[in-house]
Amino acid sequence: MCKLSGVKLASSPDQTHSLLLAGDMTLKAGQKNVLLFFSVGTILALNAFAAFQVLEGSSLLGGAILLFAVALSTITWQLYRAAENPVSYIIVFATLTLAIVCATYVLGIEALMWSYPAITSMFFVLPRISANLGGLFIAIPVSLLAQQQLGTEFALKIFAAHVFTIIMMNMMLGVIVDLHQQLIDQAVKDPLTGVFNRRQMDLSLHDVKSRYNRTAEPVSILIIDVDHFKQVNDKFGHAAGDNALKALVTIIQNNIRKTDQLFRMGGEEFLLLLWGTAGDSAINVANQLRLKIQGADLIENDRLTVSIGVNSLTQHQSVEQWLAGADEALYRAKHAGRNIVIDAERESIRPSDSTEVSD
Ligand code: GH3
Ligand code: MG
Ligand code: MG
Repeated sequence: MCKLSGVKLASSPDQTHSLLLAGDMTLKAGQKNVLLFFSVGTILALNAFAAFQVLEGSSLLGGAILLFAVALSTITWQLYRAAENPVSYIIVFATLTLAIVCATYVLGIEALMWSYPAITSMFFVLPRISANLGGLFIAIPVSLLAQQQLGTEFALKIFAAHVFTIIMMNMMLGVIVDLHQQLIDQAVKDPLTGVFNRRQMDLSLHDVKSRYNRTAEPVSILIIDVDHFKQVNDKFGHAAGDNALKALVTIIQNNIRKTDQLFRMGGEEFLLLLWGTAGDSAINVANQLRLKIQGADLIENDRLTVSIGVNSLTQHQSVEQWLAGADEALYRAKHAGRNIVIDAERESIRPSDSTEVSD
């Protein structure tokens, strides 16, 4: 099924871990609308027109139109019944292209005007490359027929108008894809740090839980909270605090795997989702991050530290219990003196700060 090519949905390279958005942001709804709109009125008219052409002695055009009507009826019925594998849109548009070329051959210039809406609709239904090719498959034979019937100058104008239509459709879709991407970013990302927002986190964690129930692949969360961040704002100002949060996110992102996902829960609190990692490994990752952050220059002439609550998902845990476990571990980390990692299932001791923790 075609997508608005170029729109990026999630940062996870593994699409099975993809973030849940409203649907998959494809043009499926648009595809159906365009096709149903096309279909309802036109199938009857096409059949009547095909019969008329056959009676008039043009079985070539009658047959081509009938072929298109059959393809259109089939896909309309399949879409209406929500069939799993409807016939390819490419077949529908191939028969449409054939019908338009035959119509131009038989009827001449009066059939030409139909090629423009046909090309336009292809761009809303087919993948971009197929739509471009489809447009050319109409433009070239139609222009050649125009050349035979009306001369070279007219044919060149016809060809230029078709190519211009194809270029405009590409430009328009480029704008739509950009706007679409911006809307997705605004809906799922935190504007200050650019990481996924809390709404996206809630959707993702439920997605993760369903996947875990199926596969039992280890997965953990770290809740990372900056220590005494209010004092940072008080001492250095809110703008410096903002910059420190951005720098903190960069450090975390530079030290995690591509499959891990970072979310801003709110304020100076972040949630890191670690795929394929549980127990001691998750605690190790947390401690590595804690040490990296402690050693970084996140704020001028001062150091920032974080406390981290770790929790690995278990079979009978709900998402809420999983989160609450990590939150409670973070609470214990704060009470134990901050700059420390605590796992929900155990008392975790802060390793010596001079020691690099191995994975
Ligand atoms: P603790 O070690 O217990 O976590 O102490 P804390 O000061 O970090 O925690 P507290 O919840 O008391 O304060 C959090 C502060 O984070 C308060 C708020 O001003 C600051 N903060 C929240 N969001 C932002 C933000 O977007 N930018 C800046 N600069 N500060 C923020
Ligand atoms: Mg804090
Ligand atoms: Mg906090």
